[in-house]
Amino acid sequence: MSEICDNLSRIKDEINSIELRTGRQTNSVKLLAVSKFHPVEKIIEALSCNQFLFGENRVQEAMEKFPAIIEKNLKIDLHMIGVLQSNKIKNAVKISSCIESVNKIEMLDEIEKQCSKIDKIITVLFEYHTGEESKSGFTNEDDLLKALSLCNENLYPHIKPNCFMTMAPFTDDKKLIHKSFSTLRTIAEKCKKQFPLLPLDELSMGMSNDFDIAIEEGSTLVRVGTAIFGEREY
Ligand SMILES: *Cc1c(COP(=O)(O)O)cnc(C)c1O
Repeated sequence: MSEICDNLSRIKDEINSIELRTGRQTNSVKLLAVSKFHPVEKIIEALSCNQFLFGENRVQEAMEKFPAIIEKNLKIDLHMIGVLQSNKIKNAVKISSCIESVNKIEMLDEIEKQCSKIDKIITVLFEYHTGEESKSGFTNEDDLLKALSLCNENLYPHIKPNCFMTMAPFTDDKKLIHKSFSTLRTIAEKCKKQFPLLPLDELSMGMSNDFDIAIEEGSTLVRVGTAIFGEREY
């Protein structure tokens, strides 16, 4: 087996054992392979061991790597997880099924506009700032609630809002990491009560170093790069 397949299988085992230990349902946590800065060959290797869900940060890079392999393998599912400038949204909605990094209300208008042009419904996650060092995301709960209430009024027929994404601070202090993820879970619970008709069931949290803690705190989607593909060469 290749090293990437080894890593994937080890991480999936680990996810399964944390699910078991925390009373979560088996396979309730999805594994998104973050392939940013890694070449197409590595993505193809991951595909060979049935990893179909990928994440990329930059639209330009995703456009260079993904269209050709998507054409050959329709099961590939790409999420955009990085900060998105408005002029990149057009390509982002073409190539991905989910934009995890919606961090301002204005982005919704542009996503709706571009999706309606190509008649596509896209899933979005709202990125929320819960960690000291993360640079992006909604920083204010009121803005987040406002974004959800606009979605709730059916202003964006081509957008399926599906809860939240966050990044924990880069620290060895596990308490701080727990706190960051539990903050997101608490806000999600509140929003679900307030907007029972919205499909708010995805919590995208956890990366290579902290996905165990994230799952303990209720993550449904972990975004793992380094632990699958190795160190990135920037
Ligand atoms: C790069 C990145 C990841 C993956 O980080 P690793 O530490 O390599 O697992 C996850 N989420 C986002 C938003 C990222 O930018």
